Amino acid sequence: MDEFDLIATYFAPLAEGYPGAHGLADDTALITPPNGRTVIVSADTLVAGVHFFDGAAPEQIAQKALRVNLSDMAAAGATPFAYTLALSLGKANRDEDWIASFARGLKADQKEFGIHLIGGDTTSTPGPLSISLTIFGEAGENGVLGRRGGQAGDAIWVSGTIGDATLALLTAGGKVDADEQDQDYLNGRLINPTPRVQFGKDLPGVATAAIDISDGLAADLGHICRQSGLGAEVMLDRIPLSPSAAKLTDQYPEVLETIVTGGDDYELLFTAPVEKETVVMTAGKSTATAVTKIGVMVGSGPPKFLDAHGELVKFEQTGFRHL
Ligand code: ADP
Ligand code: MG
Repeated sequence: MDEFDLIATYFAPLAEGYPGAHGLADDTALITPPNGRTVIVSADTLVAGVHFFDGAAPEQIAQKALRVNLSDMAAAGATPFAYTLALSLGKANRDEDWIASFARGLKADQKEFGIHLIGGDTTSTPGPLSISLTIFGEAGENGVLGRRGGQAGDAIWVSGTIGDATLALLTAGGKVDADEQDQDYLNGRLINPTPRVQFGKDLPGVATAAIDISDGLAADLGHICRQSGLGAEVMLDRIPLSPSAAKLTDQYPEVLETIVTGGDDYELLFTAPVEKETVVMTAGKSTATAVTKIGVMVGSGPPKFLDAHGELVKFEQTGFRHL
């Protein structure tokens, strides 16, 4: 099969239902924003060996690529509707079975999240598989959220649980021992994150700033602090942990640093005025999303982490950086 057959067979069906995609038969796709609504755009690239294990299942790679992009839409409080896909296929990814499975993974998530493929590019590379996705979303009537906007005194909230993905890497690397069940759970959180799209849509008009946690709680809260011109205090014992992460933290107290500074959670981190607490809780309930208040926006500089006695805890790492 050549490139054009692959596109026609495996990718064009993923554009069905989006007229502006022209069945992936044109040079361009058309996006018509609904009356005056802002369109939000975001891009993320995943590289084999960097963002996922070389040789991971193609369905999983496809869904992770989509989900990390969906997570950016969630942080904006936007409703995603379309994406483009630039694929650089490595030697191991050029057979038809691989592409078919990859497209199956995309299809399942397109259905789950109500989005369509509208264009892209397909090339081969002597290097590792690289997937670059650009996603498009629509703002709701309360606009969009960003990293700036946090106010002094705002509560700091997170969705879900923190640290599972980074603990999966730690256990895979043999640094700590988890039983098989915990390891499976943590791996699932790393491989198949849950973008908080439905919950995120409820946040514009409620939250003042938001970000998705990709580089780690400390680093991503640092982005909110910098952009909002404020500092933050986080109570370490309030950070929500999954049962597997809590078990590991009991066993190896030093993993707390990994939990706070490791990445790949794709949970939402946001600030909201104290009086919005019940609205935040209601939004969490109505979208089946756990939400936890972990701190307060106060002072200036990088976020501070406090232990149960209110003592400052210093971490050596701040977060994940590619360069
Ligand atoms: P060009 O020669 O202009 O680069 P291509 O041959 O790359 O065009 O693409 C032909 C059509 O197929 C275009 O509509 C493009 O958007 C679509 N396309 C190519 N690769 C992909 C892909 N990986 N995912 C989605 N659409 C794709
Ligand atoms: Mg092209």
